[in-house]
Amino acid sequence: MHARLLIDGEWVEADGGGRFDVCDPATGATVGSAAAGSEVDVRRAVDAAAAALPGWRATAAVDRSKILRRAAAVVRERAEQIAATMTAEQGKPLAESRGEVEYAASFFDWFAGEAERAYGQVVPAMNAANRVLVLPQPVGVAAAITPWNFPAALVARKLAPAMAAGCTSIVKPAEATPLTAAALLAAVTDAGTPPGVANLVTLADPRPFSAAIFADQRVRKVSFTGSTEVGKHLIRMSADQVKRVSLELGGHAPYVVFADADLDQAVDGIMASKFRNAGQTCVCANRVYVQRPVYEQVLAMLATRTAALTVGRGTEPGVEIGPLIDAKAVEKVDAHVRDAVDKGARLLAGGTRLTDGAFAEGSFYAPTVLDGISPEMRIWTEETFGPVAGVTAFDSEEEAIRLANDSVYGLSAYFHTRDYARLLRVAEQLEYGVVGANTGIISAANVPFGGMKESGYGREGGSLGIDEYLEHKYVLVADVSQTR
Ligand code: NAD
Repeated sequence: MHARLLIDGEWVEADGGGRFDVCDPATGATVGSAAAGSEVDVRRAVDAAAAALPGWRATAAVDRSKILRRAAAVVRERAEQIAATMTAEQGKPLAESRGEVEYAASFFDWFAGEAERAYGQVVPAMNAANRVLVLPQPVGVAAAITPWNFPAALVARKLAPAMAAGCTSIVKPAEATPLTAAALLAAVTDAGTPPGVANLVTLADPRPFSAAIFADQRVRKVSFTGSTEVGKHLIRMSADQVKRVSLELGGHAPYVVFADADLDQAVDGIMASKFRNAGQTCVCANRVYVQRPVYEQVLAMLATRTAALTVGRGTEPGVEIGPLIDAKAVEKVDAHVRDAVDKGARLLAGGTRLTDGAFAEGSFYAPTVLDGISPEMRIWTEETFGPVAGVTAFDSEEEAIRLANDSVYGLSAYFHTRDYARLLRVAEQLEYGVVGANTGIISAANVPFGGMKESGYGREGGSLGIDEYLEHKYVLVADVSQTR
């Protein structure tokens, strides 16, 4: 498999012909390559996006919508191929890859609808002879920078609303997962998207990309999903041209179980939230807080279920936990576990790298449960991004809220209770952009997804998602009576 750049509807090699390897994190084997784009290529992609903009923004919303619906259909037709590509370069179990492809398709469907619902306003004017219009208009050329953990869905979550709004885009996927992005862009192109509307530039080093787009006045919007550290760097870069940015950054989700909860449902939720994608999701539970009367019971259920998880290559049937993305990720997860154990946490499951037999060449870590995490541990404050559930006890509702909000992050939080008055009280006090009450799975195309605090700003999906790609222009038409 080889991913070329997509510029102005043509699949081309990088200027200078450079390529970089793409590896399977389960085996370390090279599974493909991608064109190693440069600043020259980024500029060519911006040229194409800028040239395509007048035609695309002038395309009737109903016609943009039809193309988006076709894009969803082509993505679904190619689901097996895209999912296999994803598992090959990212490692997640094939069943999860299939689920992600469907999730990616759902964004094209959702924003096909939103394209036709991007209403403006007619505001009652201060003077009866005047008219006040609010016109939603596309921001212009948009750049999308995406991470490796959801290599199809996060491209779709940016590209689909941009297309719906009438913007043209340059997509830059993570270095680890260019092949999935190329497969997705191929589907979007083959669905009839005009040349230049959706461009793809893969790079071995992302820095020339941000250098080129932040220096180019024609790029009006940058949407980024990735780490808080890089997000802060991009905010600084955006200042020079006051470029519009939206940021979906890191997370550190609390998962609270009150004693009155349905405990089976709560443990199902923790397992789903914590171990999907081997714990490499921005919304996964990083701190589990369980009310003292049910603490030992929940801990035992969690440890038993965790120890029973099947780890292996994502292509093998029945595998629930694939590899981590690379050796560095394994290093970080192991450092978090060792730090916690050194500071007094008790290992109830896992806690080791997996290096024997079939795991020898891959980046595997055993699903882990740590009992008794505390604030001085790295796992309490830093994103672990791996299959490690750190658990501790609490007594009161007030304490649970204080513990849950004890983070610089504010992306997602979860809690379980059967008390519906408490449910609303707690939901309203959590300083998180996304809250799951009695569930651990919260992502969907029709909801506004995004964070507070150092998890970023902006919302993707839902009825707010298209706003990230629109300007709302106010037009005052004076003295309409003159024109009658
Ligand atoms: P990362 O920040 O290292 O990389 C993300 C993307 O930014 C990649 O495409 C990378 O090439 C690019 N990048 C890195 N440095 C850059 C630079 N100087 N200029 C331009 N682009 C640059 O993050 P990652 O390790 O790929 O992803 C994991 C992180 O993403 C975690 O922190 C996770 O929480 C976060 N994440 C957030 C969400 C969300 O919706 N909030 C979703 C998924 C992942």
